[in-house]
Amino acid sequence: MEKEFVFSPSVHEGESSQDKLLRPKDFTEFIGQQRIVDNVDIMIKSAKLRDHSMDHALLSGPPGLGKTSLAMIIARAMGSEVHVLSGPALEKKGDLAAILTNLNSKDVLFIDEIHRIPIAVEEILYSAMEDYKLDILIGQGPTARNIEIKLNPFTLLGATTRPGLLSNPLRDRFMADLHFDFYAKEDIAQIISNNSHKLDISLKDDATLKLAMCSRGTPRIANRILRRVRDVTIVSGKTEVSEHEIQETLKLMEIDIHGLNRMDRKILTVIKEYYNGGPVGIEALISTLGEEKGTIEDVHEPYLLKEGYLLRTLRGREISDKTWKILGGRKNQLDF
Ligand code: ADP
Repeated sequence: MEKEFVFSPSVHEGESSQDKLLRPKDFTEFIGQQRIVDNVDIMIKSAKLRDHSMDHALLSGPPGLGKTSLAMIIARAMGSEVHVLSGPALEKKGDLAAILTNLNSKDVLFIDEIHRIPIAVEEILYSAMEDYKLDILIGQGPTARNIEIKLNPFTLLGATTRPGLLSNPLRDRFMADLHFDFYAKEDIAQIISNNSHKLDISLKDDATLKLAMCSRGTPRIANRILRRVRDVTIVSGKTEVSEHEIQETLKLMEIDIHGLNRMDRKILTVIKEYYNGGPVGIEALISTLGEEKGTIEDVHEPYLLKEGYLLRTLRGREISDKTWKILGGRKNQLDF
């Protein structure tokens, strides 16, 4: 089984010190996603007044938008520990049962990629979530018997990039369904500005905005670009970031003026060049791209769809007029 992280909210063993530095520590540092923050705020306050664990919540949305960060902030606000697990690493019922029986009252159990827990393991979550108990079958054949183990009231925070793949019994047991959307440019700019102070680099407002526009509405990408800008600036012996360092960084990272990265452009170009702009089915597209389906669907497509570069129709993926303009050329009309 992959290593389980159990930590007080300030410590996350798997992270580098720079990741830790940039991770928001409380709600004042957690920018944007106001609807989610408002919901969670009420849930935490209610839990405290009831002197009980917070209700279970499903956190869904593309990677890098703040699901793990929010789980840590919730645990901190509840004054409890957070235990971080990865869905696909939970191979045996016993692994999960051992973790559940070790939770203290009000602890937060964060399961990343919860849609990838094997079904046999997932089933033990049903009674654990609903009644804080485990029903376990001991032994085999005629001597087999059911035993019930009581659990301390805990909060399950399940994170997923694919909420549609969750089974109904599991989805029904979450009391809140919190969907993370891509961040507005102003929110990303605020995150970049806050983090530039933490990284000790000096950024002008127009530079901050330019970086925000290239971050695909995703804080993790904003942080990645910001750290590279810091490297480029330090290496060129400067103390303040100028237009030159930004251009240099974006070039190094293969990010264009629209904020599209190499893989985004490859997807759009393949649809244009090989499929006359589409529509093309996902299976044909991934075989031409030579990429994994999950990566294309979870990591790349959501932003391209959201920004209208890509269209999803019943007949497959198509590039939009906006994309034709960027890539040049036009759709060949077929003569019948
Ligand atoms: P996810 O779990 O959804 O993949 P994370 O919580 O790991 O995303 O976020 C990646 C990084 O982006 C965090 O370490 C943090 O630095 C930054 N981040 C995410 N959401 C926010 C936010 N709302 N405000 C500030 N920084 C954020």
